Amino acid sequence: MVVSMYGLVTKSTGSQYGVLTETGETLLCYIKGNFRIKGIRTTNPVAVGDKVQVEQQTDGTNWITSIEPRRNYIIRRSTNLSKEAHILASNVDQVLLLVTLHHPDTNLIFIDRFLATAEAYRVPVVIVFNKMDLLTEPEKEEVQTLRDLYHHIGYQTMAICAKNLDKAPMHDCLNGKITLLAGNSGVGKSTFLNTLFGKEITRTGLISNAHDKGMHTTTFSEMYDLNDVPDMSGYIIDIPGIKGFGSIDMNKYEIGHYFREIFTVGQDCRYSDCLHTGEPGCAVEQAVIEGRIAVSRYESYISMLGDCDETKYR
Ligand code: GDP
Ligand code: ZN
Repeated sequence: MVVSMYGLVTKSTGSQYGVLTETGETLLCYIKGNFRIKGIRTTNPVAVGDKVQVEQQTDGTNWITSIEPRRNYIIRRSTNLSKEAHILASNVDQVLLLVTLHHPDTNLIFIDRFLATAEAYRVPVVIVFNKMDLLTEPEKEEVQTLRDLYHHIGYQTMAICAKNLDKAPMHDCLNGKITLLAGNSGVGKSTFLNTLFGKEITRTGLISNAHDKGMHTTTFSEMYDLNDVPDMSGYIIDIPGIKGFGSIDMNKYEIGHYFREIFTVGQDCRYSDCLHTGEPGCAVEQAVIEGRIAVSRYESYISMLGDCDETKYR
């Protein structure tokens, strides 16, 4: 007899999936059928975070037979121009973007691009400055200035030491939510997971080398159950090896929509299609001059606009 049940995809290797069922059991599953997102080709039809239906065959094998509609999903393209995309995660409540002022230095353009892409996906981002213990007083002030900058735009920020994590603020941030953990390599994602869960979390599965940055990299993602942390619920999705999200198709007129303060101030530009690059009566440029929009944010915006030109002429 075929048994049918609902579950949550908590692990994906690209061909095999771990599905947590209502009974609390995690089943190893394969995919049956053809699940496609309209308009894009995906290398993996099912992603961590998907709510699925599973059929258990009499021979003991388990098959994912359908996916519930996704609230949202985050994809990565192997290149900007690639038609093929990989779904990194779905049904995500928020992203925790781990950054470090130093060791390693996190570039503000990276942060702003990440925020803009998340904005396009309509996924909130919490910017978490890690390794605060390594900073001098002036450097801590620098972090505070950045936190003020992003807070002013409307982003939640935190400052932590992953090695010696204060769990109370983390509890408020993570409890009851599905959170995707992101950040450049070396910022402390593994350390964060290990201290949060109080045990060694193995983050393996990414096969990658210097020659293999795109297409052939196997992306492995996993969801960790926050019920394993005292007094918490929710999940953390970890995708080792992923720095930012893939860029999603944005035309140059859209980019400004994903920089919240540029979007708001841009309503006052003389021309409704103003790109804020020297047009007369540009309210955004005026705001940059007057310090109401941060120069770094404006530079990140210009940098993203530059990508559009590149793809257009290639
Ligand atoms: P990942 O690549 O993002 O997973 O980064 P890791 O967790 O492997 O951390 C990279 C290095 O930074 C390791 O040597 C960690 O011990 C160190 N590290 C991580 N978080 C902190 C922190 O809060 N303070 C200090 N001093 N070192 C940290
Ligand atoms: Zn303008």
